[in-house]
Amino acid sequence: MPSLDSLRQRLEEERTRLRNEIAELAERPSEYRQTRESYYGNHLADEATDTFEEEKALALEAHLAGLLGKVEDALRKFENGTYGICSECGQAIDPARLEALPYATTCLKCSTPARKARA
Ligand SMILES: [Zn+2]
Repeated sequence: MPSLDSLRQRLEEERTRLRNEIAELAERPSEYRQTRESYYGNHLADEATDTFEEEKALALEAHLAGLLGKVEDALRKFENGTYGICSECGQAIDPARLEALPYATTCLKCSTPARKARA
């Protein structure tokens, strides 16, 4: 069973890693475009690739930002002493689940979509 301290440390490392990745992504597009234009001009195929790469980068950035939000939420829970408690039902979250997913805010039961009615 993981100690809370080690989970908190993992979350803090994850937060640093995510912030760095997001910062790198934010810097990437303009540099990428400049290089493209100066070396290859405005070829259609290149432009399509650029758009695709740009979309991938934006999707990745949104994904990383979402993860960062979860990690920061979890770290905030350490501050107010609610870490490891399900935000839905108030029960303790299975330590094995926290080990696998340190930023989980709900227990396995509450996070399972099957529990909710299908639209
Ligand atoms: Zn729950």
